[in-house]
Amino acid sequence: MSVSLTIPENVKIILKALNSAGHEAYIVGGCVRDAILGRTPGDWDITTSAMPEEVKALFRRTVDTGIKHGTVTVLIGGEGYEVTTYRIDGEYEDGRHPKQVTFTRSLSEDLLRRDFTINAMAYHPGTGLVDLFGGKEDLDARIIRAVGVPDDRFDEDALRILRAVRFSAQLDFGIEPATMKSIADHAENLRLISAERIRVELTKTLISDHPEKFMTFHETGITSVLFPEFDQMLAMPQENPWHCCDVGRHTMKVVCGVPADTVLRWTALLHDVGKLWTKTIDEEGKAHFYGHAKRSAEFAEGFLRDLKFDNHTIDMVCLFTRHHDAWFDGSDKVTRKVISRVGKENFPALLMIARADAMAKSDFAKAQLLPKYDTVAEGFRRIIAADQCTSLKELAVNGGDLIKAGIKPGKEMGELLQSLLTHVIDVPEDNVKEVLLELALSGRS
Ligand code: ATP
Ligand code: MG
Repeated sequence: MSVSLTIPENVKIILKALNSAGHEAYIVGGCVRDAILGRTPGDWDITTSAMPEEVKALFRRTVDTGIKHGTVTVLIGGEGYEVTTYRIDGEYEDGRHPKQVTFTRSLSEDLLRRDFTINAMAYHPGTGLVDLFGGKEDLDARIIRAVGVPDDRFDEDALRILRAVRFSAQLDFGIEPATMKSIADHAENLRLISAERIRVELTKTLISDHPEKFMTFHETGITSVLFPEFDQMLAMPQENPWHCCDVGRHTMKVVCGVPADTVLRWTALLHDVGKLWTKTIDEEGKAHFYGHAKRSAEFAEGFLRDLKFDNHTIDMVCLFTRHHDAWFDGSDKVTRKVISRVGKENFPALLMIARADAMAKSDFAKAQLLPKYDTVAEGFRRIIAADQCTSLKELAVNGGDLIKAGIKPGKEMGELLQSLLTHVIDVPEDNVKEVLLELALSGRS
């Protein structure tokens, strides 16, 4: 059956312009895959027999995105489209980068360098689908399969083993057995891959629709290279009434239980890793993990830094990880105390994590925790509605007010403001300038 795909006008314009000048041009790779699946492609990539200079000569506005690798971005109507010359990737030096790329006039040679059959199809509205490796069949069968000999492909670029798992999570596809075996055989080669590229693939897997496929990283020995602590979590039982499974499986349930967001999914993945170093067993044989949240946050900081995450993401994951098991009694007073540690703007997300965490525990734990979190959520709404103070910036006095009232600036002033905040968290109605100044001056705060 012939395939007919809907492609944007601008893309058609580019294909036509190249064709009119005597060049071949196709849409290729991820966009063909996504268009066949009825998913909206992230970007429309074009592959062509034209050399980069020939491409540039045909369009008014172009950017030399990766001219050495043959990529020129064509700008039309504020959108950019990558147009890449057919190329053969040269020998790979170290499983990282091709030593050099060679341009070719042959589409099939270009398709041959691509990673998976579902990513190695090209399409032209006139010619139809060019599918040399059974990509369409694998799409229909929902299978990720390496193009050609899997060992060769993963030898060339070990990042592809992460991409395989990532696509299987994004598309909910299986991995073809020979490809799967080769992935496991090449896990060690990930040591050659840059932290940035690893970060991208792990994150895409985590924020996919099927984050449970993260387990494939364990099953193929990838975590033993990139994240051995994950394997250790899977091997750590939790002998107490709060839990029904080991730390690792509990962790995966939390990952699947929070929304598909980078900070939330990474927090879920790392929230309990500190249990590895804090486990104690009491006389009754019950396991405890005192202080694990803090240890998890410390680990998360180093781990995410090594993966070259931006500071904001690291800070947020560490904040949520540190406070994921904050204690509540349902009173607004305790809720305000927890809010003061994470900030009002972050509290709903913290509660989301806490709920997903509870949902991944035993029935006993769920019965204890879930109704309490409902009460906390109601309290939070009350606190917001009443605009109650939970931070220094919301306090009715600031340093300037205290100086005017005759208090000397310095370290003690910071402590004084902090103690006023603590007071106001207990007694919200005291967040009034005169009341706080009097408390400050009388030293009663
Ligand atoms: P998405 O953009 O959704 O992440 P994609 O399949 O478009 O998925 P890109 O990284 O944008 O992935 O790459 C575009 C195409 O380039 C792929 O479909 C594939 O054909 C090829 N490709 C990308 N990275 C590699 C790689 N490491 N090895 C071989 N081919 C690759
Ligand atoms: Mg893409």
